[in-house]
Amino acid sequence: MAAKIAMITGITGQDGSYLSEHLLERGYEVHGLVRRSSTIERSRLKHLYNDPEVYSRKLFLHYADLDDPTTIRRIVTRVAPAEFYHLAGQSHVGLSFEIPESTCDTTAIGTLRIMEILRDQPDPPRFLHASSREIFGTPSVSPQDENTPVNPNSPYGCAKAFATQMTKIYRESHGLFFCNAICYNHESPRRGENFVTRKVTLAAARIAAGQQESVSLGDLDACRDWGYAKDFVNAMWLMLQQSQPDDYVLATGVSHSIRELLEIAFSRVSLRWNEHVNVDDRFKRPADPYQLLGDPSHAESQLEWKRSVDFQQLIELMVDSDIERIQRQKH
Ligand code: GDP
Repeated sequence: MAAKIAMITGITGQDGSYLSEHLLERGYEVHGLVRRSSTIERSRLKHLYNDPEVYSRKLFLHYADLDDPTTIRRIVTRVAPAEFYHLAGQSHVGLSFEIPESTCDTTAIGTLRIMEILRDQPDPPRFLHASSREIFGTPSVSPQDENTPVNPNSPYGCAKAFATQMTKIYRESHGLFFCNAICYNHESPRRGENFVTRKVTLAAARIAAGQQESVSLGDLDACRDWGYAKDFVNAMWLMLQQSQPDDYVLATGVSHSIRELLEIAFSRVSLRWNEHVNVDDRFKRPADPYQLLGDPSHAESQLEWKRSVDFQQLIELMVDSDIERIQRQKH
């Protein structure tokens, strides 16, 4: 039987790399769209890219920018994927205030362009849009679920709200298998180093290795609902295996503070966090939405989605991975 074909935008990111592995393990042929401009960051895909059994046999990368629909259309038509995972986009909330037009171009209109291309295909693929809890802004209800009012308060959230609603409209008006994964924070050893979990796990590992003395952070009372990126891509895949398309909140339903994060990360390396952490106002946010907490009940009941690790295990595996990375660099 011919392999099932999947296409991924944002394949070089944290989620894209885990999703590629997830699909390859299940026998898929995986096609990634990568940006033509900028140096391609492929470190998260390196192990697959450098494997001659995988690259150009089961995994293929194509150059296509999100603002270049002609190229995307050509690739989609040629490859004819059965599943399309749209994970790409400028996702930095703060940055979206500085560059709102390009954020909306790629995140909002870029998504719509892809949906138009997919709608035109003779056999439109199933489509997953990686949406974000940013569509809820500063919600007045907690936890949030699929029925929580959309009320974004950042250009990024607004662009995501547009793309989320369009995904729904295409599902309802054109009868397409289009779904939104409304994702809360999800972390892993592949998380970017400026996100707080990775900043802390890397700092704990470096301090333990004697490479650094301390780390500067913002608000230590800030809380987040942090899950594991590997579990999230499993849910995304499950969403496209259902008999009916739908939207799902992907979250853990449990909130933790930066202090708890510090406690776990530094205990893992037998250090006391308060001897190594400085508070720096530059890292504080003007209005942090503390009550961001997702209700994953729908995903748990409909997809039978189970998370493989809890928060403590997640942070510990991230610290362990950063320790290993530092040791590898030494040799
Ligand atoms: P976000 O939820 O997408 O903004 O993910 P981040 O990992 O960037 O931030 C999560 C939370 O950590 C926010 O509430 C921040 O205010 C808080 N935080 C506290 N100190 C820091 C820091 O030094 N860097 C970052 N990125 N966040 C911090």
